[in-house]
Amino acid sequence: MSQEKKEYKGYKIEGVGKGKADYYVYTDLCKGCGLCIAKCPMNKAGKKCLQWSKEVGLYQTPAVAPDPEICIACGACAMTCPDSAIRIEKRQ
Ligand code: SF4
Ligand code: SF4
Repeated sequence: MSQEKKEYKGYKIEGVGKGKADYYVYTDLCKGCGLCIAKCPMNKAGKKCLQWSKEVGLYQTPAVAPDPEICIACGACAMTCPDSAIRIEKRQ
């Protein structure tokens, strides 16, 4: 019997943080709570970094997406998400 790793649906935003990382949002995990948007330090600084996306999440609520030009790939959003719906993969 083969054990397949569950693949989550979602999308990828390439080259956030001046090309430092790739940003993944898993739409079948995101429940649209907005905690990540509230936590983003760039948003707190008055910039429109992490915002609601046109993609829908688990409950047909909007998922999120960062502006790759503003995002600094700090990871605060990913650490805040209670559902692990965000993954930031640093590029080598
Ligand atoms: S990685 Fe940091 S700057 Fe980028 S969206 Fe997440 S919290 Fe905001
Ligand atoms: S990515 Fe996580 S913290 Fe952000 S809205 Fe979706 S479920 Fe909430």
